[in-house]
Amino acid sequence: MVRVATAPRRLGGMDGFTAQWSEVVPGVFRLGVARVNCYLVVDEDGLTLVDAGLPGTRRALRSVLEHLGATIEDIEAIMFTHGHFDHVGMARGLQRTSMRMLVHPGDRRLLRHPYRYARESSPLVYPLRYPRTVPGLLAMTWNRALFVGGVAATAELRHGEPAEVPGRPTVLWTPGHTNGHCGFFFERPGVLFTGDALVTLDPYTGERGPRIIAGAATADSDRALQSLDVFAEPDARMLLPGHGEPWTGGAAVAIERARAAGRR
Ligand SMILES: [Zn+2]
Ligand SMILES: [Zn+2]
Repeated sequence: MVRVATAPRRLGGMDGFTAQWSEVVPGVFRLGVARVNCYLVVDEDGLTLVDAGLPGTRRALRSVLEHLGATIEDIEAIMFTHGHFDHVGMARGLQRTSMRMLVHPGDRRLLRHPYRYARESSPLVYPLRYPRTVPGLLAMTWNRALFVGGVAATAELRHGEPAEVPGRPTVLWTPGHTNGHCGFFFERPGVLFTGDALVTLDPYTGERGPRIIAGAATADSDRALQSLDVFAEPDARMLLPGHGEPWTGGAAVAIERARAAGRR
């Protein structure tokens, strides 16, 4: 098990509605609000954001940067696991001419239009079937989930290649949740960012443990389940998902459990 480096820092207010952050391994910060995670990776060559959360995550980002003695100018790039609104949130507000925006070609259009995505079933059915998710969905709305502007990619991510960001993580294309969904493996801290291809909390059902996300937000669940093998990275000591807690039980076990959980 990997020790969590610092206790979560909650910036006041109601759990779920208020942005918080923690350093999950040295140099990797988890920023979260309303059950949505994004991450800041600190490398000697600069800072990289993995996803851009909801607009309401900005407060946590400010707090982490202050903690590091850094500014927004120090963020070299944002690499997107995919183009859904809850992963693009802060991007437009942070955008500067020197900041690179990287996404897989399959999600380039979605990054510009983060609400125009394919899904298997209506998201409206899920709060009725899983009423415990309602507070989480309200928290997302409160954190301006309905007001996310798209951004244009400045570079593309290619499967199996190192991304041109500090730390040069390997890009792992995992289509299914969206067509261009990718995970990123940073060899040095040994962390695997799994985005929404493999989460430990499904915001649409409230179910916890490794799984794919419900059809309310997934384009092709069969393909998403097939893609999981791409994450079979033996050196990943921590998996960091787009929703839910970090997973330290190894990639193989996470994949096995996600397959057993199946589709919703
Ligand atoms: Zn998503
Ligand atoms: Zn998501």
